[in-house]
Amino acid sequence: MRGVLVEKSDAGVKATLQGIDEQQLPDGDVTVRVEWSSFNYKDVLAMTGKAPVIRSFPMVPGIDLAGVVEVSKNPSIIAGQKVVLTGWGVGETHWGGYAEKARLNSDWLVALPEGLSTRQSMAIGTAGFTAMLCVMALEDGGVSPDDGPILVTGAGGGVGSVAISVLAKLGYEVAAVSGRSDAEGYLKELGASEILPRSEFSEPGKPLAKERWAGAVDVVGSHTLANICASTKYGGVVTACGLAGGMDLPATVAPFILRGVTLAGIDSVYCPTSKRQKAWQRLLQDLDLDKLERMTNEIALDDVVSTAQNWGDSKHRGRVVVRVN
Ligand code: NDP
Repeated sequence: MRGVLVEKSDAGVKATLQGIDEQQLPDGDVTVRVEWSSFNYKDVLAMTGKAPVIRSFPMVPGIDLAGVVEVSKNPSIIAGQKVVLTGWGVGETHWGGYAEKARLNSDWLVALPEGLSTRQSMAIGTAGFTAMLCVMALEDGGVSPDDGPILVTGAGGGVGSVAISVLAKLGYEVAAVSGRSDAEGYLKELGASEILPRSEFSEPGKPLAKERWAGAVDVVGSHTLANICASTKYGGVVTACGLAGGMDLPATVAPFILRGVTLAGIDSVYCPTSKRQKAWQRLLQDLDLDKLERMTNEIALDDVVSTAQNWGDSKHRGRVVVRVN
């Protein structure tokens, strides 16, 4: 089979597309013929070695995959069934989606929701799934469309693009933060009503600022997240899922103790199965699939390594799916 393998030597981390002997696949009770995978920020970090995402080498990266079960030792999952996998450390501690076959723990799989193709499920991928977890956290915190605008950062990226689309479909007013000067048309087409420059949030700010947002989906962290908390309305909910701007959080407790703001942490990797199923159903219901297609670009397995190397400089936006088989 063909696949991308990340190897580590004294010279550093190197990813190459190569022939891989199927005998080398890790242990697992299900073998999946991978049809599609996707590209996430974490895959870039894994393949370039910019962050220690990969925990054992050699590793097939790719934190997402969708395909058809080929062999199963679990009676509740049968050969021929279509499945989706995001997270669980796949592509980090266990071989992932950038190879024609994957051997996996059957507990990690979600049956492909009826109405979605394997390609569409990967256009959503970890990024879109995480966006939906953020939306569900806003709802759990009692934020409704009548409460005011929702701020979405990293708007041109995968999480941001899906979050804007879902929130707009649900009737929320969405303000999008982007560092791109040419993104207005794209973001408005997804459903944003206002575009704000990244620079408005990225510098150190006051502990409390004018109350503007009923809620937020933040993929950036650092000063941006601190400034969002400071400008969130009384009782609002800020969901934090990313670190595109930094891992730190130089904030004060003022928004939490004086305005009852909730900071909700979002993790997609070890999200429990029942919540995963609910999130996939919600995506089916609340994500416009035409918009999903318009935000999706397709690459081949042969392009995965170069795409990772050029990610920071590229003008990619939205989601990237990888045709594996
Ligand atoms: P993408 O690379 O697709 O998008 C990230 C976006 O963030 C960019 O498109 C850009 O948007 C913005 N951005 C990039 N660098 C900076 C910066 N230095 N300062 C401010 N904004 C920046 O990534 P994803 O959407 O896949 O992931 C976004 C983040 O969410 C990542 O940090 C990722 O690790 C995290 N994540 C976390 C998950 C979880 O389970 N908690 C799951 C999935 C993702 P623009 O150009 O429009 O400003």
